[in-house]
Amino acid sequence: VAAVNTFAGGRLDRAGPRRTDERWLAERRADPASRAVLATSDGVVVHDGATPALVALTELPPEAELVLLGVDGAGAAVFAADPGPERAAALAPGAQLRGLRDVAGEAAQADAGLLAHATGLLNWHRRHRFCANCGAPTAMAEAGHVRRCPRCGAQHHPRTDPVVITLVHDGAERVLLGRQPTWPPGRYSTLAGFVEPGESLEEAVVREIGEEAAVAVTDVRYRSSQPWPFPASLMLGFEAAYAGGEAHPHDHELEDVRWVSRAELERAVAGEGPLLVPPPLAIARRLIEGWLARTA
Ligand SMILES: [Zn+2]
Repeated sequence: VAAVNTFAGGRLDRAGPRRTDERWLAERRADPASRAVLATSDGVVVHDGATPALVALTELPPEAELVLLGVDGAGAAVFAADPGPERAAALAPGAQLRGLRDVAGEAAQADAGLLAHATGLLNWHRRHRFCANCGAPTAMAEAGHVRRCPRCGAQHHPRTDPVVITLVHDGAERVLLGRQPTWPPGRYSTLAGFVEPGESLEEAVVREIGEEAAVAVTDVRYRSSQPWPFPASLMLGFEAAYAGGEAHPHDHELEDVRWVSRAELERAVAGEGPLLVPPPLAIARRLIEGWLARTA
């Protein structure tokens, strides 16, 4: 079984068919066993560093909107709510408000998945208060999985933006990495970009590598994916084989691109620099480690 990327691996039953069952939803909102995960625009509420603080619904301010995440293994409903950064930590005594990326490196797999799920859905609500079709305020429906426009009738669904992220290799000896100017000195990563309308994932890989590094690639192979709720991406991890061209930064998104040898990459993954690679929570790191293991 392939390793699951950070932010995947949540354990809730998402209970999709229940989202339109108003009676069941009303019962869950009144059920003392129901809990809410708290997430705000500033981060998530956790205790002991990285465990989601699940609070009873009666603890929440009455105006807090509840989004259904699903049902846990004991049959209790789990919601997400955003009580605002000022109130969030106070609702769960002893808990802290922390950035999701900071928490993710320390959290158990299923906890990181739960926090990413809550964050992604609440990010969408926060940014879609108004109808994209006519501009009127929209209202939450289907337990928080739809927003409806009362003026024009449009229905809006939670958005996930696909990003392709690709490890380019030349067989078994070298990989092509790039760096953005804002990254820590020495940090390099695999190349990534948003999928555009009217484009397959494979086409997006070929286009992005050409735009960012001026090289051609072939033999595009899917590896794994990762929810990335910053604010709403889905990272789709690929490998592709180098097929020609001299690598150089091409479209100003990257300040450098370079071929990295297997030995240098192995040292970086072991933390023995000088090259720095992304931390284990990033799919880029999983692509690098997967390639090293498979081609060893
Ligand atoms: Zn509208």
